[in-house]
Amino acid sequence: MTKSVLVTLDGEVHDFDAPLLHADDLAAVRGDGIFDTLLVRGGRPRKVRRHLERFANSAAAMGLDAPDLTAWDKVIDIAAEQWRDAVGDSGPEGLLRLVYSRGRESRPGSVTAYATITELPARIAQARRDGVSVVTLERGYSIDLAANAPWQLLGAKTLSYATNMAALRHATDQGFDDVIFTSAEGAVLEGPRSTVVAVYDKTLVTPPVEIGILPGTTTNAVFELAEQEGWKTETRVLLPADLIAADAVWLVSSVTLAARVTAINRYVMPDDADEHRFADLVDRAISVD
Ligand code: PLP
Repeated sequence: MTKSVLVTLDGEVHDFDAPLLHADDLAAVRGDGIFDTLLVRGGRPRKVRRHLERFANSAAAMGLDAPDLTAWDKVIDIAAEQWRDAVGDSGPEGLLRLVYSRGRESRPGSVTAYATITELPARIAQARRDGVSVVTLERGYSIDLAANAPWQLLGAKTLSYATNMAALRHATDQGFDDVIFTSAEGAVLEGPRSTVVAVYDKTLVTPPVEIGILPGTTTNAVFELAEQEGWKTETRVLLPADLIAADAVWLVSSVTLAARVTAINRYVMPDDADEHRFADLVDRAISVD
């Protein structure tokens, strides 16, 4: 088994299997903190700058002290070095997670901050290879909520992912692989751990972050590269019917990268003759910087 890596923000490397958190850490008792997840490929964490930028935005949204990005950069380097030592440069991909909580409930002002690298869950290879069937689930809020109630933290990557995980379990119980959330009005939001991208000929479309979804680092990088390569890109509100009318729909994220949506609510999406061009684009978008 590959050795998992754990490094605290002070640069100290820990035994991954040794206990780390106190029982009253606000991450554990309130989900009061933020995280971010990066892919490690070829021993190198991908899109570090974009992830640290989002990490800082998530912290600001939650009123956490601004993360020291130089220190986080260093922790990412140390963790990646440990990972390379364990698996080699051409070893398996890894999942790098940054965690930053408000610290212990009994010690106001303390913070908890660390990075881990672990092996990718097996579902990822399968999602990349075979795609995913999805069910649409209503998230229960309006696309206006992010603007009307910024304290709701809709654009922040907080540790409170229980609802997202519940949605995925619900999907599995119904025989689906993944979820696309919809708003109270029926607009397409995002997946519980991915951004939705629809492909129409040479145009890529994704919902705007202003409707209350997480800004996807991968989709942002893909859209930048796509524009350089002559694709059109758009952000606009989509309905599930727009997805069904697309040439292809993808769930995009840092670790899975691109999982083609094979069916939406039992409607089987037609095969995309050009299936590989989008997945190739995503691969190339995360191979630089
Ligand atoms: N939306 C949600 C809710 C997510 O959890 C994720 C994954 O982190 C994404 C979108 C995709 O973001 P990224 O491409 O930065 O991984």
